[in-house]
Amino acid sequence: MRNRLATQPLFELSKPGRRGTQLPPCDVPQRDVAELLPTEAQAAALPPLPEIAEPEVIRHFTNLSTLNMSVDTHFYPLGSCTMKYNPKRNERLASLPGIVDLHPYQPESTLQGMLRLLCELQEILAEISGLPAVSLQPAAGAHGELTALMVAGAHFRELGESRTKVLAPDSAHGTNPASARMAGFDSVMVKSSESGLVDIGDLRSKLDEQAAVFMITNPNTLGLFDQQVNEIADLVHQVGGLIYLDGANMNAIMGITRPGDFGADMMHFNPHKTFSGPHGGGGPGAGPICVRDALGAYLPTPVVERDGNQFRLADNRPRSIGRVRSFFGNVGVLVRAYCYILSHGSDGLRRVSENAVLNANYLLSRVRHILPVPHGHRCMHEFVATADDLKKRTGVTAMDLGKRLLDYGFHAPTVYFPLTVPECLMIEPTETESKETLDAFAEALFRITEETPELLHETPHSTFTSRPDEVAAARKPRLKWSRPDTEEKPKH
Ligand SMILES: *Cc1c(COP(=O)(O)O)cnc(C)c1O
Repeated sequence: MRNRLATQPLFELSKPGRRGTQLPPCDVPQRDVAELLPTEAQAAALPPLPEIAEPEVIRHFTNLSTLNMSVDTHFYPLGSCTMKYNPKRNERLASLPGIVDLHPYQPESTLQGMLRLLCELQEILAEISGLPAVSLQPAAGAHGELTALMVAGAHFRELGESRTKVLAPDSAHGTNPASARMAGFDSVMVKSSESGLVDIGDLRSKLDEQAAVFMITNPNTLGLFDQQVNEIADLVHQVGGLIYLDGANMNAIMGITRPGDFGADMMHFNPHKTFSGPHGGGGPGAGPICVRDALGAYLPTPVVERDGNQFRLADNRPRSIGRVRSFFGNVGVLVRAYCYILSHGSDGLRRVSENAVLNANYLLSRVRHILPVPHGHRCMHEFVATADDLKKRTGVTAMDLGKRLLDYGFHAPTVYFPLTVPECLMIEPTETESKETLDAFAEALFRITEETPELLHETPHSTFTSRPDEVAAARKPRLKWSRPDTEEKPKH
């Protein structure tokens, strides 16, 4: 039985008079409060906060924290999301008082350490990407895409061109076409070939002087490195367009090849993926972007600049697209990325990628005997298997397999993405898993495919919720408790 304390909102556990704190008596006379505060700022009654003793609060939150899976408790092969182990050293460094106690409104002269760290991170990302101009401002990968497309927009405006199209392959992450639309472009889909790579013929037919940017994910979401990338870059550059690299899969190529060297003009990093920032459930993230020198002038303000031994936030940048986020960006995530990168060094980062690719290929070699892997005899850091045959034979879906894996103590892989493979499971083991874990996962997947469809449709049995309405959960989330008798209709 689940502990009642974990499943009931704190409001329902409330008993009048219970206390978790002992506050000193208020030493401001009531009379003064009434005089000092205008009436409209005075509360008529105390807020209806739950009244609970400390042990119950602690049990409530501790139990809540165990209802979900995490990288610290379970293997988490969520493809494209790079759920690698988050080294605890980085947590400790990121919570040092000299870092957490900073305030962004402090004078620059008192922020020199943080500015130096950010400036060095810019330089490091420029080196890893092969693209020299960097902005740490964007708050997530998707925000990096949007920011870079706005940079591209500014570039074409300055050339006096009004290009309308942003192209992306059909295997791209949904954020690519969404960012294109948000940045004011039409989004054009380019087909993938039989082999899962960009269909060059289809790309050619859609390239003209209206093409602003081609967004490519390389390695792509099938875990394949598209070796046509130089040819693709040439084709796009010939019509005056730019290449954007969706850098979510940098975990496969760090220190081995650089986007700037294979033709990309702009890219984002996902430090929360590649550089081990703890993430899940939508955050926290960062989405630094790197661009070619010629595009640097359009980057958001401020950028961190080195001035001899001093560091400053440069915001006198007349051609900049302006601010895209408050202050310096999502510093907590960036600090962890900096610690991760420095503690590995350049050889270490290369080994991270080599081991991520090795682990994925090892797991691929086991999984392909259980489920078909339609694209790729070999893979980069992840691969995509399909339950399409299984579904046709038995009715068991990719969703059923993902759900059942939870009962076996594994987080589910990504399912139903990319859209180009039916009933797909996208599996990314990452470099931080042992051979024993990968073997146990393959073993579990094999045993699950031997189970009856009736059982699999009903799973999972071991989790707090089993089959929530996922569409309603995303579209009409209930994010706050309301008294059952005053149930508010969700706003949407
Ligand atoms: C995660 C991801 C994104 C979006 O990044 P966020 O940081 O989640 O906004 C974009 N493209 C790919 C391929 C991804 O895996």
